[in-house]
Amino acid sequence: MSDQQRNERHKKAMEKLKSHVDAKVAAAEEERGLMLVFTGNGKGKTTAAWGTVTRALGYGYRVGVVQFIKGIWECGERERLEQDANLEVAIMATGFTWDTQNRESDTQACQEVWQQASRMLADPEVYLVVLDEITYMLKFGYLDIDTVRTAITNRPPEQTVIITGRNAHRELVAMADTVTEMQEVKHGFAAGLKARRGIDF
Ligand code: ATP
Ligand code: MG
Repeated sequence: MSDQQRNERHKKAMEKLKSHVDAKVAAAEEERGLMLVFTGNGKGKTTAAWGTVTRALGYGYRVGVVQFIKGIWECGERERLEQDANLEVAIMATGFTWDTQNRESDTQACQEVWQQASRMLADPEVYLVVLDEITYMLKFGYLDIDTVRTAITNRPPEQTVIITGRNAHRELVAMADTVTEMQEVKHGFAAGLKARRGIDF
């Protein structure tokens, strides 16, 4: 095949692709807040959520982040982004960690931070709400799915919500507009590599 033939073939393929994409863009008419779920065993769920937080803050929108697991680790994004007056972060203050699992105090701590979450989910001024690691709260029964479903369903129409954590409840997956499953191909941890500051947290 000559270079010219190759170029022509490429141009045709690109034209075809462009018409497909254009048709899809034209077909997408609805505009409202979304519900996204980042789940799966691979790395990147919380990172992707903070990436989206950064994106929203970049346009001057108000953002609420609720961290359902008591600062197991430090969190570089939080340190940096909290300087932005448009960001509010609520962290589960006491109770749940991977080490001390005490049903009563964990449930109490979870319910307390959920109050913050439900306030954000009811506030039309908040453009994006992140419920980081909330999947575990449902799994352990510290929070019930009906409560979460109702708050998400009734949120302001312009508000987007992101759920992160492994083993997302099937009802959350069913409700969501966009669900991404991070698949673990490899993780350095399995080879004995320590979580790295500024990279893993
Ligand atoms: P990240 O916060 O890096 O985006 P994540 O939110 O997808 O990760 P979590 O299950 O919340 O993953 O785990 C949080 C911590 O565990 C992070 O320090 C992350 O680097 C690490 N981690 C993530 N996936 C794995 C894995 N498959 N094996 C071991 N450690 C992991
Ligand atoms: Mg995470």
